Amino acid sequence: MKKLQYERPVIQRLNVGVMNKFGNKTEYSPVKHIEGNTVKSLIEKFGSPLFVISERIIRETFKDANRAFKTRYPRVQFAWSYKTNYLNAICNVFHQEGSWAEVVSGFEYHKALKNGVPGTKIIFNGPDKSEADLKLAIEKNSLIHIDHLDELYLIKELAVEMKKRPRVAIRINMDTGVYPMWDRFGFNYENGQAWDAINKIMLNDKMDLVGLHSHIGTFMLAPSAYGVAAKKLSDLALEIKKKYKKNIQYIDMGGGFASKNTLKGSYLQGIDSTPSFDQFAEAITTSILNAGFVENELPLLILETGRALIDEAGYLLGTVISNKRLSDGRRATIMDFGVNILFTSFWYDHKISPAQEFSRYTEDAVIYGPLCMNIDVIRENVTLPPMKRDDHVIVHTVGAYNMTQWMQFIALRPAVVMIDTQEKVHLIRSRETLASIEGNEIIPRYLEKFKL
Ligand SMILES: *Cc1c(COP(=O)(O)O)cnc(C)c1O
Repeated sequence: MKKLQYERPVIQRLNVGVMNKFGNKTEYSPVKHIEGNTVKSLIEKFGSPLFVISERIIRETFKDANRAFKTRYPRVQFAWSYKTNYLNAICNVFHQEGSWAEVVSGFEYHKALKNGVPGTKIIFNGPDKSEADLKLAIEKNSLIHIDHLDELYLIKELAVEMKKRPRVAIRINMDTGVYPMWDRFGFNYENGQAWDAINKIMLNDKMDLVGLHSHIGTFMLAPSAYGVAAKKLSDLALEIKKKYKKNIQYIDMGGGFASKNTLKGSYLQGIDSTPSFDQFAEAITTSILNAGFVENELPLLILETGRALIDEAGYLLGTVISNKRLSDGRRATIMDFGVNILFTSFWYDHKISPAQEFSRYTEDAVIYGPLCMNIDVIRENVTLPPMKRDDHVIVHTVGAYNMTQWMQFIALRPAVVMIDTQEKVHLIRSRETLASIEGNEIIPRYLEKFKL
């Protein structure tokens, strides 16, 4: 018989964490691999911490979303939200699945072009489009979503100058019953700004108003809000038809569907409370189908879903640096990854699984990152079995926003790998190096030398 491993006895104050009706959720078994690849081998080969993306989960999630909409509505088009995760390998998986590109800056616009997305299949959103960006987007006949009047006037000037008819939509914000309302982007529906912008475009006749766009918020948990938004956009499209005898070609409902992460302070876990794609699709498509369009004038339905399509496909592997007792007796575990690369830990309680066998004993703990910064907390309160130095963990549901909002603060950003559908591992972003970070730095001649 194998000798049991000795474990130091601990006296522990009983601390009951936040319970929900399913009890105090803990991990009962370790997660030692991701799709046929052991955590140990991945870390040995690519270093720790390490982001891992599952191509299989991306494709399955996309197919599920696409099915939910296509079974309910005849004309559906997804456009991948670049800012959610713009690693080119990831964008291209979505493009292979048929997604167009949705970009919110000149940088992202160029990234999409470079990936080979035709200009006509790029949706250009956001409040900050430079004159050069707009010229290029007009040249390439992209779909330009106007955010404010200054942009509208600039596009009009460029249209005259370039002798082109830009294809535009306006972004519309509105009251959908979810507060705080996102009213800083685009034109407001209730106060008449949206209708005013429509008239300014239609009566000037220098561009084609091809679509109406809204993106009502992010991590939305209420499908009904999308039903309200779809109804308001449909009503506007029908008003345009009545007044100008022109069909609006598409209605773009933006993104914002919640992923299966758990928001901080939430009573239920994300997997138990997040609405399904079917629920969002039902709310949106019923609104448009019942709005009063005649059959051959139903607008194309565009979706710019970001986080709900990629969050579950992303994992972060990491390693324990040390443990200590805090002054109040709680256990603190220090990891080799912090908020610098896991930005979303500011608003989610990420699920963390140990990646090796552990005993039945668990303890409430705080999980800290390695930064010399007090706000570097990954989990304020989590029930986990004790782990020791060099043990590994997997953080789940980290595919959205972490790889675009990460910051290069006191350490180099880690590598990102993708596991393909045959379980083969591909490096898709190499670990940063001192040289790659210093590449943009310039030392003035007189500062090159010093004596100490
Ligand atoms: C960020 C963004 C999206 C994607 O939002 P998610 O919440 O990630 O689904 C879609 N459209 C626009 C205009 C955005 O700014």
